[in-house]
Amino acid sequence: MRRRSPNYKMLRERMVREQLVARDITDPLVLKAMSEVPRHLFVPEELRSKAYYDGPLPIGYDQTISQPYIVALMTQLLDLRGGETVLEVGTGSGYQTAVLSRLAKQVFSIERHAALAERAGHVLAQLGYHNAEVVVGDGSQGLPDQAPFDAILVTAAAPDVPEPLKAQLADGGRLVMPVGGPGGQMLERLIRDGSKWRVERIAPVMFVPLIGRHGWSEEDLKREWF
Ligand code: SAM
Repeated sequence: MRRRSPNYKMLRERMVREQLVARDITDPLVLKAMSEVPRHLFVPEELRSKAYYDGPLPIGYDQTISQPYIVALMTQLLDLRGGETVLEVGTGSGYQTAVLSRLAKQVFSIERHAALAERAGHVLAQLGYHNAEVVVGDGSQGLPDQAPFDAILVTAAAPDVPEPLKAQLADGGRLVMPVGGPGGQMLERLIRDGSKWRVERIAPVMFVPLIGRHGWSEEDLKREWF
């Protein structure tokens, strides 16, 4: 006898109510996007029934899809209204990319693992998120050819905010990322005002490392992370 698949729409609505609205996610556009993007299609098949659980999940290659609340919080901090060009660093499963693509005009997302980038690009294309483009590379260097960006979201932690990302942020733009290492990280939001950046410290978080020229090096990883 075949088992009936879970009612994902109902699980998603409950996730929005109990994990997002019940906390501090108030932007109706973010809540709408999170209630529409099918998170279960971005996680490995054997974990689909856990896709709407209140935490991160493994996606292979020692990487994770972030907790729904963290995806919503970081998205809300970007304050997107529909006309923006967004850079995401750390595509992972592509779930956060899909949420961003519902809220912005164009999303470029960079992933250092080619296999993850390929899988995410495939799921995004199948679901019709055609304003999202996945690129393989070191996102700590940004994407100078497509800059400036109205918003930049980094989903892996670096010791400091990479200078190329600051340089590629448009005036008035918002950059959200975790800053720190294995011992502790702070989610920060930077808002650019000409040659100045206002820095807001939002909340303690725990992310995988941003590995690259302006992030952690492979040597740092061996010494400090594992
Ligand atoms: N936002 C993702 C999602 O919704 O599934 C989760 C991203 S996961 C927490 C962080 C990702 O950053 C991993 O896939 C990792 O391979 C990637 N990453 C780490 N360093 C990177 C770099 N320098 N450039 C691009 N991607 C990087």
